[in-house]
Amino acid sequence: MDSLKLKDKVLSEIVQMLELEGTFTEVVYNILKKSDEYLNTGNASLMQISEDGKSVGTIIDYKSKMDSDNVQSVFSADECGSACVTMPIYINETLAMYYAVSGRGAEENYSKEQLQFMKDVAKLIQSIAQTKVTRNSLLSSYEVLREILSSIDAGIIVCNRYDGTVFFENDMARDTQEIRRTIKECLEIYFSRQESRDEVKRPIEHYDAESGLWFETKFADMTWIDGSKVVVCTTNDITQKKKNQQKIEYQAHNDFLTGLYNRMKCESDLRMIIKSAMTDGLKGLLLFIDLDDFKQINDGLGHEYGDVLLQQIAAGLQGVPGIRNHCYRMGGDEFVIIMTPEIYNDRERIIKNIIAMFNKPWNLMETEYYCTMSMGAAIFPTDSADVHGIIRLADIAMYESKKTGKNRFSYYDNSQNRNTIKRLDIESNMRQAIANEINEFVVFYQPVVDVKTQRTASCEALVRWNSKALGFMGPGDFIPLAEYLGLITSIGDYVLETACRQCRYWNDNGYPDFRINVNLSVVQLLQKDVVDNVSRIMEKTGVNPANIVLEITESFAINDMERVLGIIKGLKRLGPKIALDDFGTGYSSLNYIKQLPLDIIKVDKTFIDGITEDEYAQAFIRLIVELSNTIDTKIVVEGVETQEQFELLKSLGVNYIQGYYFGKPVMASEFEIKNLKGRMKKNDYFN
Ligand code: C2E
Ligand code: CA
Ligand code: CA
Repeated sequence: MDSLKLKDKVLSEIVQMLELEGTFTEVVYNILKKSDEYLNTGNASLMQISEDGKSVGTIIDYKSKMDSDNVQSVFSADECGSACVTMPIYINETLAMYYAVSGRGAEENYSKEQLQFMKDVAKLIQSIAQTKVTRNSLLSSYEVLREILSSIDAGIIVCNRYDGTVFFENDMARDTQEIRRTIKECLEIYFSRQESRDEVKRPIEHYDAESGLWFETKFADMTWIDGSKVVVCTTNDITQKKKNQQKIEYQAHNDFLTGLYNRMKCESDLRMIIKSAMTDGLKGLLLFIDLDDFKQINDGLGHEYGDVLLQQIAAGLQGVPGIRNHCYRMGGDEFVIIMTPEIYNDRERIIKNIIAMFNKPWNLMETEYYCTMSMGAAIFPTDSADVHGIIRLADIAMYESKKTGKNRFSYYDNSQNRNTIKRLDIESNMRQAIANEINEFVVFYQPVVDVKTQRTASCEALVRWNSKALGFMGPGDFIPLAEYLGLITSIGDYVLETACRQCRYWNDNGYPDFRINVNLSVVQLLQKDVVDNVSRIMEKTGVNPANIVLEITESFAINDMERVLGIIKGLKRLGPKIALDDFGTGYSSLNYIKQLPLDIIKVDKTFIDGITEDEYAQAFIRLIVELSNTIDTKIVVEGVETQEQFELLKSLGVNYIQGYYFGKPVMASEFEIKNLKGRMKKNDYFN
């Protein structure tokens, strides 16, 4: 065989050897051996340059002809020189090895073909080395990856993106039960997803009920070491994060004082509830509750009391069966209850329960305290399907209730909206009148008549508002709003001053013992400076304090006994008489009333309305009359409209009567003509 043919044969055999399995050393040794068939030098080796690059050592050596003693196993790079031919081998572009052929004397020359052959062999060795090295580094980087993944504080599973074959799982994914369960479930979800790639990869939050822990599993696309398309699932314990989140959510959605949901939560819940009610063609209801006189309780008794009261009311509302998770505090003293369609049919019972709850006193710092509320309701989606709309309408209905008295409830109806526009109108006009035109407020006087003599004994001062902008209004149209807005003090002071002046005028002009009753609102009474204020006005007008009667409503008197006693005693020290107004509308017991230094008890009109047919009411009046004699208190019965009522009350021993039967409230000048001049002798006056 000619040498060229031999060369080609050998090379092609070498190339085939590349396919063989085996270690690098084995493969290279065989190549060296094979190459010698052509070169026939009997010696070839592969030498590796040391790490510092200064020396070269043989790593694979093939010898056939030469005596091993004649060949140095280690050459210096220079020594290689003419004794051998060396071909450089590069790996990753760095000179890493030499392919060296030696064995002929220095005088012998290698042919061009032989040199070319050696170059080819070197290239082949280089390519084997390069592949092996790459594979090695892949293997080692896979090991490193394993290490990294195992030490990560998360469960990791790598699996085929299409059939779920698991390529890898770290210790945590394998050994921690809750993570194992979680990954299994998350992978099921992942593989059942049908959406776009990005959607499929969205993280899954999973609660593992058995351990009580929360996990988040994330998915990332990767190409695995062997080139397959994989998904890497990482499962992390997010329990702490979840807890913090829940805490933040709780804080964002709950009222810190009462623990009820707050306004924000109310609005977002309501939005969903209205929406689903509309979809299902059902109805729901929003109850708006506003406490009566809360501002005064808070300012008067102190915030500690106010806070405790709010907490008790919140707990009370939650205790009403069926609405535990439907209660919201909107801020201040406003509460909302959302009656979802599921509990809508139970609305009458729930409303009744709430009213009943406020009919009982609250226990505040060891004192029984009455605090009533006004409640309004609007129905969704009928009245409004808008979140703010429905709240506003229920608020309007609430205000209508407030106007009619304490602890009332009303449904929203259209006319109320008109009233609200009026209410806003009243508000701005009232503020203006108080600031600039206080004498738009006029004081009328209604006679109080002595039953025995049937003559005027005293009178009650009753305010009216003759508004330029809105016309003439009775107190029912603006007093509740004035109380609500905190404007009652200004109006009340003005009425007291006017009445004191009028009293002094009548006292100085022929009726020295004539008395005038003036109403004090609970709001005024709870002002810290109420005693000083009344004192200042009486001094300023020069009235004889003994001729002024301050009417205090029962709803004030039944609250916080010690405090009420303190205020009443403080007022009494200034010289006026004290009357308990609206008796019979509240909850006070006679025993309780006995403890108050009262001069007069005014029995409310509602008590008298049906008295001629109501034996219980008659017995009650008789009892009060008896009691009043023992505690030296006079009884005035209000709202007497008929002769029949008058006769009956007279027979029951009532001392004084006030009512349309004897006269409506009128202006001072008219009162003077009708009730004072000519009709009364000086000594008939109330005493
Ligand atoms: P009140 O203190 O119970 O006053 C008695 C109310 O009953 C008066 O209504 C009076 O006009 C009315 N009345 C008297 N007799 C009869 C009767 O035979 N039949 C009927 N149907 N009504 C009768 P008015 O003047 O509308 O006052 C209503 C309420 O407004 C008063 O009730 C009082 O709580 C409040 N108010 C009136 N003036 C003032 C005031 O200057 N300050 C404060 N804080 N409240 C006032
Ligand atoms: Ca009164
Ligand atoms: Ca009254």
